[in-house]
Amino acid sequence: MGKRILLKGAILVDPSQEINDYRDLLIADGKIIDIAPSLEIYEDDVEVIDLEEKVIIPGMVDLHVHLREPGERARETIEDGLTAAIAWGITSVCCMPNTLPAVDNYMMVEYIKGKAHQANLGHLYTVGALTKGRAGQEMTDYASLIDAGAVAFSDDGNYVDNGLLMWNIFKYLVPFRKLVVSHCEDSSLVGKGVAHDGYYASVMGLKEIPRVAETVAVARDTLLAQATGGNLHIAHVSCAGTVEWIRWAKENGIKITAEVTPHHLLLTEECLEGFNTMAKMRPPLRSESDRQALLEGIRTGVIDIIATDHAPHKWEDKDCLFEEAAFGVSSLDYAVSLLLTELVHPGIISLDELVNIYSCKPAALMGLPAGTLCKGAVADIAVLDLHAVDTIDSNKFYSRGRNTPFDGRHIKGKPVMTFVEGELKMKDGKVFK
Ligand SMILES: [Zn+2]
Repeated sequence: MGKRILLKGAILVDPSQEINDYRDLLIADGKIIDIAPSLEIYEDDVEVIDLEEKVIIPGMVDLHVHLREPGERARETIEDGLTAAIAWGITSVCCMPNTLPAVDNYMMVEYIKGKAHQANLGHLYTVGALTKGRAGQEMTDYASLIDAGAVAFSDDGNYVDNGLLMWNIFKYLVPFRKLVVSHCEDSSLVGKGVAHDGYYASVMGLKEIPRVAETVAVARDTLLAQATGGNLHIAHVSCAGTVEWIRWAKENGIKITAEVTPHHLLLTEECLEGFNTMAKMRPPLRSESDRQALLEGIRTGVIDIIATDHAPHKWEDKDCLFEEAAFGVSSLDYAVSLLLTELVHPGIISLDELVNIYSCKPAALMGLPAGTLCKGAVADIAVLDLHAVDTIDSNKFYSRGRNTPFDGRHIKGKPVMTFVEGELKMKDGKVFK
């Protein structure tokens, strides 16, 4: 047995075991080997870490990030993206296949695995492309992508407009039991739209993306999943109508799950004021009533999980006319702190609920060995200081992308240690590679 680590004196919040209480954890060989209200071990080969007044949770699991490699290293690299994740308590991430070229064959999955291995930080899982080149014309070779390690399939960034192709994709993927992650925006309804079709788009003269562009797309995929028995996961839900559709689908036994991003939970179209390109994203930020519906969605379980849709961009991608700016938010940095500050501290959701929807449920949904700190589980752990205060400064991001609408916000609560397979990978903001 290798070196043992004893984490002592913290409160463990682990919804997978329904624990929110004092627990000591003993770690060896990358796993949790014992867990009890109090463990007293006086042996030389045990390193004791005193975590009084801290909270231990299973490391967060983010199913939707863009790491831009290969092809766009100026925007992000796998190493920098994984560094940002580790620095902020996220120990497993799934990267989306809209790289250049797209992840549409097994060699690309191998390439990404190699990069993640080199980085030696958290766990990285790859989402393979649904169609070749993400062009929406032809299926990729799912079996070989899965053999290489693809955990799900998506053309994220694009909606698969061809209904017949999508019908076949659902049918084809059923025996593989892999999720089809759908970026639901009907492209003809989005057109050249750049903002929600509300007050701000109209006074600013911006081309609009109506709510129905999303809900129509969700409706079609929901019905195709129902007809084929396919496993549908809806990426980044943005509006109330979609939440209603998903509720209906779940009530009718359709295999559907859904995610929401921190920015759609915390912001509205108001952020567009002053032609703020940092608030430009797809789907767009919508109205306060939509935001409330999304919050209600996570409270009721209609929306299953939180995922960041981390979309790092270069400065010049955002430092331009609103119409020309890139869509997306660099989100791995501070995501956990923002959710603690804006949702947990005000009592909108409990810490248990946050851990459940940003660690336990995403891991279970994707079938990843994460999201629990039960005896025998992989020791992927985040240690939180719920009282630490800070101000968001995008210049201090670990990600290469500094494009955030949250700059200057005060936060309360942050991860102060991150363990991956029992190894300390971050302490007080310092990341060990
Ligand atoms: Zn997307």
